[in-house]
Parts: sequence; structure tokens; C-alpha cells
Amino acid sequence: MTETFYSQWRLAGTIAAVRDAVTEPPPERLLQALWQRQRLQRDSLRTLDGRSVRVLHPGFWNHEAGPDFRDAVIQIANAAPISGAVEVDSVSADWRAHGHAVNPAFAEVILHVIWNGPAHTALPTLLLQPHLDAPWPELAEELAGHTQLPVEFAGQCRAPLAAMLTAEQNALLDQAAGVRLRIKAKTMERHARRHGWDAALWHGLFRALGYKHNVWPMQHLAEQLPFLQALGTTDATGWQARLLGAAGLLTDDLRGQTDAAQEWLQTLWHHWWREREALEEITLPRTAWRLGGLRPANHPIRRLVLLAHWLARGDLVDRLENWMTIECSRTQLGVTLGERLIVQPVSFWKWHWTFRSPRQKRRCSLLGSARVTDLAVNVILPWFYARCQVGRNQLELERVEARYRQWPSAQDNAVLKLARQRLFGGPRRLQGAAQQQGVLQIVRDFCDHAPATCEDCSFPDLVQSWPDQRGGEPDS
Ligand code: SF4
Repeated sequence: MTETFYSQWRLAGTIAAVRDAVTEPPPERLLQALWQRQRLQRDSLRTLDGRSVRVLHPGFWNHEAGPDFRDAVIQIANAAPISGAVEVDSVSADWRAHGHAVNPAFAEVILHVIWNGPAHTALPTLLLQPHLDAPWPELAEELAGHTQLPVEFAGQCRAPLAAMLTAEQNALLDQAAGVRLRIKAKTMERHARRHGWDAALWHGLFRALGYKHNVWPMQHLAEQLPFLQALGTTDATGWQARLLGAAGLLTDDLRGQTDAAQEWLQTLWHHWWREREALEEITLPRTAWRLGGLRPANHPIRRLVLLAHWLARGDLVDRLENWMTIECSRTQLGVTLGERLIVQPVSFWKWHWTFRSPRQKRRCSLLGSARVTDLAVNVILPWFYARCQVGRNQLELERVEARYRQWPSAQDNAVLKLARQRLFGGPRRLQGAAQQQGVLQIVRDFCDHAPATCEDCSFPDLVQSWPDQRGGEPDS
């Protein structure tokens, strides 16, 4: 291989790691890339205790908390193939050192993959170093910088999707997006039938603001809203105390807090101690929340402060109804909705992410544009849609659907990135938030019910039987 300045520079870090690998295991990131690409002598893999291992699918690289690969399919000795997670560590002792042994997220691990050394867990353990399919320096060079999913990770639907016209792909995604909107609206309607439309909206807002890790404690608080509201009206500070207190997130440990945090906590406790006893039965333990590994802006404390302001203001439904009556272009949709959702918190929340965080140099927003989009697409528009359906208001229904379809794209996320690669083989441009929702619906309807190998998935058949817009007959 001809060395260039670029290739040498790119490998500088890797080469150092390879040199070190004589005495130390390579960095975990490289080992994960090695596992993902299966650069192993795959026909002779054995666990440390001598059983044969067949990797039918290495799983999908998980870049978030939890095991490194999800949905792997492996077969050990003559047992039936099993599906689960794979954890890749440099050495076996990392299993305990990284806390995996006591982390429930790792209960689904079916194979522990390590560079070399003895096993320290009861899990089937596979060594990488003795099974490499090329000398390590060569492999390390090849693996450095790989971020794209290898081509063999393509879903079985990729080829039939690629054979479609772009207009046909768009029509398919638009239809899937429509299904998702109606499913969400139906959920809203079911909730409204039992608890009323306002409760259905709050339920959706609380859940959505739980983001993906704290949906359940947020839902619990939404379900307790009648009790919380029965305590009487109060201002934004009172609502903060009520919500944070009932959430179990109002600490009374003032040691180590900044002066500003101590002052604000004392103000909140001044409210909370009067209501605490009445709400004791519904108060959550702090352990109900997942607080580690969150971006500060997504911390549930900030989400509850936002909700507290909306509850104190008492006019959220009116504001949203007003928003539905105004005319606005595609680019104004998020801005105009954001104007109705934005709140003015006290100074403490403008400059601190949480009670523990130091004062920030830049102001901390309680509600960014990405979250406005999430709330619009997942809660507010489905809620309006459900109301229009029940009220048989066809004109308004079309207006709501038009907003849904016009909404600009939401922030990308790991599920979308993976789905785009499996379905389209790369970063296909999705036209707005609705098409993103369409992709998520395909994942929900098909990928979530099939193994990583796509076995028995019926989506490729659906794509192949899609009405041909070029004028030909659909394949029979
Ligand atoms: S499971 Fe189905 S929809 Fe998902 S990637 Fe495989 S073939 Fe495509």
C-alpha cells in the first residue's frame, strides 16, 4: 500500500495502539469494529471452554448505554440458535470493572467477546486474538475509521426498495407515516374516552418529555395529575415543588450544592414540606428515574420544570387551539408552536442545567426547537387529529394532516440511522418529519418482529408488490 501523508496521519493513533497491543489489548472501539465486520476465522470459532460458536449475525452496534451489540444471532455447539446481546471488552475482568455484572441492561448478553485472557464470568466467552483472519496490524489499519454499516448488514428489503422509483419510495413512506399518525391518534382517543381530552394531552406530553429513558416515571406523574391539581392552584414555583417533590427528585441534601442551588432548593422546599405528607403515597423513589448518561438538556428535572410552568399558566390548550387557527408556512410551523410553548423560568434555570451543575456561560433553554418538533409530531398533532376524527371535522382533519406532512425533519437518532442503512443502504434524504415517522413505523411493523437476518420478514414482499408507477403490472 502506498503511504501518503494522509494515510500516515490517519493511522498515527492506531499504529500506536497496535504497537502497544504486543503487551496490551487494543482499544475497545477497534475490537468492536473487528466484531462488527467479523474479521475472524469464522469456521473455527470456539468458546474458552471449547464449544463451537457460529455467528449467524453479529448484531447491530449499539452506540448508546447497554451492551455493545444488540440482536446478535449465535449458535453454540449443537444448541438451537439464540438471539441476544454481545458485549465486547478488552479483558474479561472489564465485565465486573465496568459494572455490567449488576446492570440489568446486560442480562440479555449471550456472549462475552474479549481480546484475550481467562474468563471471569459464567457467560460463554470468545477470544478474538487467536481467531483473527489476518495479522493484527493489517486489520487495525483496515478497521480504523470505519463507521458505515458493512454491506452485508443490508436488510433483505434493500434491493426491492432500490428498484423502486423515488416517487414510489416516497409514497410508501408517506403511507407508513399516515399509519403512524392514526395509531398515535387512536391511542389519544382511547385515553380521552376514559379521562377526557385535556388528560390525554397531558399524558402524551409527560410521556414525550420522559424522552426514551424516563417514559414510565413521567407517565406515573401524568396519571397523578388529578391528585396534584386537587391540592389547589399555585404558581410556577409551587408546581415545580409539587412535581419535583412527587417525582422524588427534590433533594434535601444541600451539602456540596452551589449557593444558587441551595437558595432555589430552599424556596422549593418551603412549598413542598406543606404538601409532602398529602402526596406521600404517590411520591416516586429517586431510583425510578434513569439519570445517568443523559444530556443535561434532557434531564427530567428540566422537563418537569417546563411542565410546571405550563400547568401553572393553565392556558396550554387555548394556546394550542389558537396555533391551529393561524396560517403559517412550513418554515414557521415550529417557530409559531414554540412561541406558544416557551416559558420564562426563574434565573436559576436559565443558567443551570440541574441543581448539581455549575453556572453556565450560555443560557440554558428549557425547550429547544428539536423538542418542539418531537412534541408536535408525537403528541400535539395526533391529539388534534384524534379530536377532529371524533368530531367528524373533515376540514380540520385535513389541516392537521397537512401540518404533519409539512413539518421539517426532526433530529436524527440511532434508530433512524440504522434503519436508513438497512433499508436504503446509506443516508437517504427523508422529506420531513413525517417520512422519518414512516421509517420508524416500518421498523416497528417489520424490523422489530424479525431477527437481524430478516428471516420471514414480509416487508420485501410488500415492496415488490407495490403498484408500479411506470405503467407496468406489479410482479406476481
Ligand atoms: S427486517 Fe424486514 S424491514 Fe427490516 S431490514 Fe429486514 S427486510 Fe427490511
